[in-house]
Amino acid sequence: MIPISQPLLDGNEKRYLMECIDSGWVGADGPFVARFERQMAGYTRRRFGVACSSGSAALELAVQALELKPGDEVILPALTIISCVAPLLRLGLVPVFADCCPLTFNMQPSDLEACLSVRTKAVIIVHLYGLTVDLAPVLALAATHRLKVIEDAAQMLGQQYQGMPCGSFGDISVFSFYPNKQVTTGEGGMVLTNDETLAERCRRLRNLAFDPDPARRFIHDVLAFNYRLSNLQAAVGLAQLEKIDRTVEQKRRIGQYYQELLTDLPKVQLPLTEMPYCRNLYWAYTIVLQDDSRHDVKKVTAALSTLGIASRPLFFPLHLQPVVQALLKQPARALPHAERLYQRGFYIPSGPALTEVQQRQIVQALYEVLV
Ligand SMILES: *Cc1c(COP(=O)(O)O)cnc(C)c1O
Repeated sequence: MIPISQPLLDGNEKRYLMECIDSGWVGADGPFVARFERQMAGYTRRRFGVACSSGSAALELAVQALELKPGDEVILPALTIISCVAPLLRLGLVPVFADCCPLTFNMQPSDLEACLSVRTKAVIIVHLYGLTVDLAPVLALAATHRLKVIEDAAQMLGQQYQGMPCGSFGDISVFSFYPNKQVTTGEGGMVLTNDETLAERCRRLRNLAFDPDPARRFIHDVLAFNYRLSNLQAAVGLAQLEKIDRTVEQKRRIGQYYQELLTDLPKVQLPLTEMPYCRNLYWAYTIVLQDDSRHDVKKVTAALSTLGIASRPLFFPLHLQPVVQALLKQPARALPHAERLYQRGFYIPSGPALTEVQQRQIVQALYEVLV
């Protein structure tokens, strides 16, 4: 079976892990955590990085650090991972779901505008699958309406918008270091910000909100989490980050090779190669069946699986999630593009360890299944 994504751990990962083991520093107080945070902050041109246990944990920390009030509305795309809406619902905030562009899959200014109300206090911007959100008009709109901005750059480490790194935008940004992301720590994440108060809140929230006064250490005013990243994980992350440019090159090479090999595949929409503001990074290589295709995503992914190739559907839109609908006071409005992308779209293997031989095997299977 060709897996959907396989990381390459071929840098200093082993050496740094051995340093942890030899020194006995394995927990979250070890030196690699601070080094990894500093390197990530430097890479994304932020002042502060707060490492944590996953991208989902980073979203929890980022949302809670904004200290919004129950009933405040937060706009976010419908087509994204459940982790974006979970912290909102846990904190009594009201999610308002935005549709997306059918070609880039990302939220557009008009999608955001359709969600604004007098109660809107924040927006979560998510870059999906390989292209960035067109940030300039979205950030301008957010500024006009005095919205706090969280940038979910989990899929976009190493990507740039108009020459500026993803993860450098908004009040606070988040990354994931899950194995299918450009940098992995097995499990892990990070919050980045230029705001010292937000960074300090995130640091306390990830560490059970222990009191900084040693005498009051075990006395708590705030309910928080243990979302710490271990020194072992940070050691792997630092080694991975050292070779981020090569990983991004590999992702782009894989995406471009698919683009060449798949041009004659009938009745599908392949990813856009570039936009005026960014080149596709191909975090995932997406294929959307056109409306006149007689194929069905569930059958296509099952057929690929029998040919030894893993594939995945696109995200299930958040406004249709049973757990979200059960908690919402009002039924969400229909979002045709997000709904259609879920019904018609899927993605194929694209991890940095993928070989050209495997790519040709995948392409051959796709022609077999889709022609
Ligand atoms: C992967 C991902 C996350 C969550 O990260 P985990 O580390 O898996 O918790 C959040 N947002 C987006 C857009 C992601 O792709």
